[in-house]
Amino acid sequence: MTDCLFCKISQKQIPAKLVYEDPEIFAFEDIQPQAPNHILICPRKHVASLTEATAEDASMLGHLHLVAAKLAKERKLTAGYRTVFNNGPGAGQSVFHLHLHLLGGRDFRWPPG
Ligand code: 5GP
Ligand code: ZN
Repeated sequence: MTDCLFCKISQKQIPAKLVYEDPEIFAFEDIQPQAPNHILICPRKHVASLTEATAEDASMLGHLHLVAAKLAKERKLTAGYRTVFNNGPGAGQSVFHLHLHLLGGRDFRWPPG
């Protein structure tokens, strides 16, 4: 997709602090971190949100979570961390390219706000 912020980050047309990349997935530091560790993990394929994902995206969705667990281990988030998909404006989604938030390094409350 040509006019998508995260597609542009994937193609390195817009700079970001990349912390992981492979042919299917890339991950970078959130520009407005909500925790000491706040990483966005995205597919290179443009999928607007989880709602638009299909059966052919099943392995990519698993891959996003495994990369989150790997980054959490690397950052020694042993006390716990949170992985979140915001789906749709009512849930706080503001960028419509699928991204898994990895948040860690502070205590989290439940239920989330
Ligand atoms: P959402 O609200 O869609 O779940 O999450 C979008 C996230 O993208 C937000 O946490 C926001 O801070 C982050 N974000 C928005 N624009 C940029 C940007 O240009 N660069 C980076 N690194 N993060 C961004
Ligand atoms: Zn995109």
